[in-house]
Amino acid sequence: MAKSKDILWEVGCEGHTDAWVVADSWELATVAAARFWGVPWREVASQCEMKSKIIGAPRNICCRCGRTYFGGPPMCEVCKKDVKLEEEHLRRRLHRAYRMGKVM
Ligand SMILES: [Zn+2]
Repeated sequence: MAKSKDILWEVGCEGHTDAWVVADSWELATVAAARFWGVPWREVASQCEMKSKIIGAPRNICCRCGRTYFGGPPMCEVCKKDVKLEEEHLRRRLHRAYRMGKVM
């Protein structure tokens, strides 16, 4: 089955680490990003910011470390884990900051 070129998006959102997702449109990219962050799409849809858009992203080359790998796009397993961890740390940090009243 022929597939059109992959579009790789870097989705930014306040309070979250950047999400790298492959999607056919910006809207679908925000949906995938929300799934990555584990939050309801409605909550983040309007706050998502397009940081980069790469049409025809090379497959099997990690968007984060640039290494060749096998697996689904857009990044290798090592980076996938790293990014997840980054997101968890960020969330914990924010949570603490909220509790201490440092944010807003
Ligand atoms: Zn990588």
